[in-house]
Amino acid sequence: MSPLQPSLHARHRAVMPEWLALYYREPLELTHGEGRYVWDAGGRRYLDFFGGILTTMTAHALPEVAKAVSEQAVRILHTSTLYLDRHMVELAERVAALSGIPDARVYFTASGTEATDTALLLATAHRRSNQVLAMRNSYHGRSFSAVAVTGNSAWSPTSLSPLQTLYVHGAVRTRGPYAHLSDGEFIEACVADLEDVLGQTHGTVAALIAEPVQGVGGFTAPPDGLYAAFREVLAPRGILWISDEVQTGWGRTGDHFWGWQAHAAAGPPDLLTFAKGIGNGMSIGGVVARAEVMNCLGANSISTFGGSPVTMAAGLANLTYLLEHDLQGNARRVGGLLIERLRAIAAGLPVVREVRGRGLMIGIELVGPDGSPSPRAASLALEHAREAGLLIGKGGREGNVLRLAPPLTLTVAEAEEGAAALEEALRRTGHTIAEEERP
Ligand code: PMP
Repeated sequence: MSPLQPSLHARHRAVMPEWLALYYREPLELTHGEGRYVWDAGGRRYLDFFGGILTTMTAHALPEVAKAVSEQAVRILHTSTLYLDRHMVELAERVAALSGIPDARVYFTASGTEATDTALLLATAHRRSNQVLAMRNSYHGRSFSAVAVTGNSAWSPTSLSPLQTLYVHGAVRTRGPYAHLSDGEFIEACVADLEDVLGQTHGTVAALIAEPVQGVGGFTAPPDGLYAAFREVLAPRGILWISDEVQTGWGRTGDHFWGWQAHAAAGPPDLLTFAKGIGNGMSIGGVVARAEVMNCLGANSISTFGGSPVTMAAGLANLTYLLEHDLQGNARRVGGLLIERLRAIAAGLPVVREVRGRGLMIGIELVGPDGSPSPRAASLALEHAREAGLLIGKGGREGNVLRLAPPLTLTVAEAEEGAAALEEALRRTGHTIAEEERP
């Protein structure tokens, strides 16, 4: 770059929205990746524990997916749902069978936001109601209807929504009147809250939309069985359950292929949304629903890019790899070791309030010396982790939770390497925070 040329960062600032935040004081330009590693424009290598917000689910530059994409790209590139496509039908068949939803149908979109939108379109049309339930602290995307079910105004900048949304308790247990309850008491309290909220509706509520483990919300999960208890209240009223599996799907949580399965007594949800990792970097989203719900629209509906041949080829190759290599089992084993290791590290560090998670979806909640949430600590830890050669994410209502979601092929040695980098980053963060807050 010539010294007179503005940096890529300056050019980004000049043409893109102010609210499009970049990570890091010195934003990172990634040029390539392999396995669980990525390289920046200066040639530095990083272990990637965030996968571009969980989009690199399997591995960077996975040869099987790259081959499927390039073979399709030189064959036919045009896209739309007007014609038959072998990859699309085969992927839909496999996703329908894996979903656990009886008589399932699949509709592909190009993103998770569109999947949320489509699920809400289907549920509200099927129920002839614009009233929906969502969880406090939720995140479902940035379209006009997706922000209307996103329970934190920091993530939903407009509230001028056509939907009438009521928010219920269930995901966050770290504060408020429910903080000290046992699992059973917490579920009971949430069910009572749900019934109370339903009493304030006009009667015909379309659906409850919920993430089994909240992603942007800071990797927080309700006790197993919460949605089974909710279902007992919702099902007799005909209210549909939409499980947003955009972050939790495809085995990431280790114990289960879908997040809803931690609440299995409830049976499968009525609708399930997915996106992110299934394309291993290609933009695929979608909705699965019972035929009766999926077919309730009279529209001759198409999505130009949803289910394009290249993305479908990628999704199919990625799903095949994921199942053949039992990546869910790997997430359970390696994720279990990583959580254990991180808990041992955290035990000596007052800046860490909690290490939580399942499989390879792990949250580290950071606090200041007085025990209150510390977004400053999270920002510092993000920078220090980068300096130690590790990329991680951030989230949570107060922005004080570190999010770890490495590709599901993570090895034990790489988990160890990441834990060592995190230990260094957290130690440095703890020192700085303690210094800054010294009276
Ligand atoms: N649902 C959840 C649970 C998400 O985490 C996200 C993205 N962070 C979305 C929906 C929206 O997906 P996308 O960014 O692909 O539109």
